[in-house]
Amino acid sequence: MVLSDLGRRINSAVNDLTRSATLDEKAFDGMIKEISNALVEADVNIKLVSSLRKQIKTAVKFNELPAHVNKKRIIQKAVFDALVDIVNPHQTPYNPKKGKSNVIMFVGLQGAGKTTTCTKLARWYQARGFKTCLVCADTFRAGAFDQLKQNATKAKIPYYGSLTQTDPVVVARDGVEKFKKEKFEIIIVDTSGRHHQEEALFSEMQDIQAAVKPQQTVMVLDASIGQAAEAQSRAFKDAADFGAIIITKTDGAAAGGGAISAVAATHTPIVFIGTGEHLLDMEKFNPESFVSKLLG
Ligand code: GDP
Repeated sequence: MVLSDLGRRINSAVNDLTRSATLDEKAFDGMIKEISNALVEADVNIKLVSSLRKQIKTAVKFNELPAHVNKKRIIQKAVFDALVDIVNPHQTPYNPKKGKSNVIMFVGLQGAGKTTTCTKLARWYQARGFKTCLVCADTFRAGAFDQLKQNATKAKIPYYGSLTQTDPVVVARDGVEKFKKEKFEIIIVDTSGRHHQEEALFSEMQDIQAAVKPQQTVMVLDASIGQAAEAQSRAFKDAADFGAIIITKTDGAAAGGGAISAVAATHTPIVFIGTGEHLLDMEKFNPESFVSKLLG
């Protein structure tokens, strides 16, 4: 189910109820059930869906609603607030400062969209006046440095990497040191992924983190990850304590409910979403506007 279908389904559940002639508690429960089913089918974590159900019930208190109130407005607001709560961890992400070196390290599984998103984020900061560069510490995947080089060249962003050095920790440290000396303000470090979360990946991530001491670590999650997102994001959080999430491929066939659930599992804010393969296909994420847009 794509994201817009999820929005449409939730919207029509609310509208069907508020337009129906019998706006009674049974119909209200039916609406909550339909919203819950839509969220579960979109891979939102089941525990989260159950807490959303409770939250809407408590906020509306259907039995106690006085006859004269605008039930439609109250129900719509309760649904909106509960959906915002799913994507809002009430944590403020790190905000890079001009005039100092802000190191941002990317982590995630292979194919999640790290390399693409590194360049998108670099361009985003560059367009906002930061002196920005990229470091490729992915020595695991053949061709990773070439890919970053091509992306960076297209976006006119200085980059660092090595075709001969096989230790990613050395590449990361050397690149970050070089760019710090040159007074770069945003230094984005791309790291390698693996097909699965595994010991070797986690220890490499920790070693790079210790070497470059990032101000922010960003976890990149593919929107199609599904119900596996909770366990995966927890495992990455334990290993690399990331402070921000970027969800990629929100333009694809998956509604992204699993990836969205990683927010609650790790209490970490989504900062951007990827909306396509191109450099400019990235949007800043804000819980309220995301839900507004979802519900059209
Ligand atoms: P990495 O292995 O994590 O570095 O992943 P890559 O950056 O190489 O991305 C894997 C694939 O996903 C590439 O074909 C990208 O073009 C594609 N990709 C990344 N982000 C997005 C996105 O937001 N939307 C779409 N449609 N494709 C994306």
